[in-house]
Amino acid sequence: MKNHKDLYVITLAFFGLSFVNIHFALLGLLCMFLPMYLLKRDTKKTWCQGYCPRSSLYMTLGKKRKKKGLPTPLSFIKGNLKNVVLGYFFISLTIALLSTIQVVRGAMAPMLIPRFLILIPITLPFPQLFTLSAAPLWLTHFAFRLFSMMMTTTLLGLTLSYVYKPRTWCTICPINTVSDLYILDQKSKTFQPAKNKAS
Ligand code: SF4
Repeated sequence: MKNHKDLYVITLAFFGLSFVNIHFALLGLLCMFLPMYLLKRDTKKTWCQGYCPRSSLYMTLGKKRKKKGLPTPLSFIKGNLKNVVLGYFFISLTIALLSTIQVVRGAMAPMLIPRFLILIPITLPFPQLFTLSAAPLWLTHFAFRLFSMMMTTTLLGLTLSYVYKPRTWCTICPINTVSDLYILDQKSKTFQPAKNKAS
């Protein structure tokens, strides 16, 4: 199965719609749940192989490049970098969830700006075509946190695709790492009874 070439439009639409209204960034949750649902259903990387809009963006931009990118460093494929990025993803998601709970409880003010790599606030004016005044502030806070995660990983992926091969981000993408771990675990469970039978 090949990644559909036009799916990059969804990535562009995600950022475009977030600038129309930040609550559209909540759609970013689909990019986390759909790959996991398909992984559990098929026990293979169905999302990565055929439906990922981000990978489609990297491939589309990669094809337009004149210069050939550098080969992907070995540390991306075999080193600990995958685990570092996976750790970053879980820390980022945990902060997003816990800070949202704190906002709901009134123990913290909502953070209504994006942040790059959790730590760097983007203080530039954030364009919004319309605002949803009825939306609770905790939801707006959570939408900004999801936008920050999507923005950070997309910018990192774009930088990598510019320096190296178009899909270099995929080698360290948390979805890929989790998928590898899940598939390995399922395979070991499948082989376990056969092994026991043989012995
Ligand atoms: S590894 Fe990540 S970026 Fe690459 S195709 Fe899979 S989900 Fe998309």
